Amino acid sequence: MSEVSLPAPPEPLAAPVFDSHCHLDIMVGDRPASSGDPVALAAQAASASVRGILDEARAVGVTRLVTIGYDLPSSRWGAEVAAEHDDVHAGVAVHPNEAHAATPETLAEIEALAGRPEVRAVGETGLDYFRDWASRDDQHASFRAHIEIARRTGKALVIHDRDAHDDVLKVLAEQGAPPVVVFHSFSGDADMAKKCADAGYFMSFSGPVTYKNAGYLREAARVAPVELMLVETDAPYLPPVPHRGKPNAPYLIPLTLRCLAEVRGVRPEELCEAINANGVTVFGEW
Ligand SMILES: [Zn+2]
Repeated sequence: MSEVSLPAPPEPLAAPVFDSHCHLDIMVGDRPASSGDPVALAAQAASASVRGILDEARAVGVTRLVTIGYDLPSSRWGAEVAAEHDDVHAGVAVHPNEAHAATPETLAEIEALAGRPEVRAVGETGLDYFRDWASRDDQHASFRAHIEIARRTGKALVIHDRDAHDDVLKVLAEQGAPPVVVFHSFSGDADMAKKCADAGYFMSFSGPVTYKNAGYLREAARVAPVELMLVETDAPYLPPVPHRGKPNAPYLIPLTLRCLAEVRGVRPEELCEAINANGVTVFGEW
């Protein structure tokens, strides 16, 4: 499938930044694309390698990334790749859409992986009320178990929150949030951003903040404290404008970063610097 057309690289950033959330294993085709997602399939057809993805990203100033797990095989894969690459950290978890698979044995291995030095996050976990692939009871039980793993291992908790803002906040408050919490691909409005800010939760903004109909996300990005902001691709999903419908990759971070900088009225390099500092707070030193 050599006719897959990939987005052209954006203008390089003037200062380095990192991608807080992507799925390298799906991009390189080591794992199936979720539900045959056409964008992910196109990414795989482009037959990238991990080294190629890292080099393309570095060429535009995206010098590091976090590859995020969603089940046991992807979590094991991410930990291995992070161990082999200085510019890659990993997150490990069972995704809320797979919560029925979060058996005690699986959670025990997730916790063992989370203890490895190159694994810096427990995620993505959380609640997804958009899809009903796993029951809400299973999702809540898995989410609470992952919160406990993050607390015991001291790693950042990376949250997938889809149409479940109130319950995610409630479970975090009831269970006791770990010291570092990240809302991945932040999808709330300004009011939700204020709630997260009050609780000290990080907000990681992704491609949708650039979408024409997503004014509420730009409002959220305007009111979020800069010391709680991150940027991510969620690649191969959620490509920023003008590449909707095409495979996303870490080298497209500059498009989302520039949108965030414009919304906040700051220079992109200022925002990159702040986000890199936040990255050390959240994921530790590289
Ligand atoms: Zn993700």
